[in-house]
Amino acid sequence: MSVKIITDERCTGYSREGHPERPARISTAVERLKKQTELPLDWAAPGAVEDAQILRAHSSELLARLQIPHDIDGDTPFYENIAGAARASAGAALGALKAARVGETVFSLMRPPGHHATRDRAMGFCYLNNIAIAVLEALVTGSKRVATFDFDVHHGNGTEAILLNRPGCACFSVHQFPCYPGTGAANAGDNCFNYPVAPGTPRETFRAILGRALSDLNNFRPDLIAVSAGFDAYAGDPLADGTLLAEDFHWLGQSLRGLGVPFFSLLEGGYSQDLPELIFAYLKGVESGKRSFNHG
Ligand SMILES: [Zn+2]
Repeated sequence: MSVKIITDERCTGYSREGHPERPARISTAVERLKKQTELPLDWAAPGAVEDAQILRAHSSELLARLQIPHDIDGDTPFYENIAGAARASAGAALGALKAARVGETVFSLMRPPGHHATRDRAMGFCYLNNIAIAVLEALVTGSKRVATFDFDVHHGNGTEAILLNRPGCACFSVHQFPCYPGTGAANAGDNCFNYPVAPGTPRETFRAILGRALSDLNNFRPDLIAVSAGFDAYAGDPLADGTLLAEDFHWLGQSLRGLGVPFFSLLEGGYSQDLPELIFAYLKGVESGKRSFNHG
């Protein structure tokens, strides 16, 4: 069975010199995936996203802000047509949701990432919260219990803020603390579970914490899992002090597949030159894990 990769050139059409969240993150990963022959791939373009779908997660003020040609903050510049790029990334998340529901293995290889964007504020390289938009879409279109799993090294503060105390969903985030954005030290509300990892935590311990989060997620008994797949907990990443190796991302993919629940993954962070290898390792893990779908 092939792995569906959702991507298109809209996500490499903007950049600022020196910014770590750069087009090469996607273009080198696309090149790597096109070069390999181990995994059969099925390439797809993102679909459209309606304002109404975005506005379940965000205020109309945030959508309007993306049209104003001033930087939002130092991390989150204004780019010409950033609104279009952010909408394409959100559209890819919705496409990934659809694919997961029909039992496909799917990965959204897009930028900008989304998990730091809150209801009212773009921040941390993120403009629209792709995962929250997809989860809220899932909840109004038949999913009863949706879990998010966020293994980006940074806390998914935006996802937490948007989905806090929403019936039918639960958020599980494993991240370095202390680290940007400074949140995620403890659980929040009745449905957001945080697993802070100290900077430089030995790899085995880091992996045990990931395993605990996955076990708690499994106990929530989700019928769908939305994964914020960030690869910046990698030992070689320049933005944080994680200790994970490529084989740990392979293991994560395998473990998620092993839960036997439909899931989709969206690229969040990951800033090292090895990002293509880390994504490839994850996808191989997803594809090799035990599959036992109960279509949800
Ligand atoms: Zn990150």
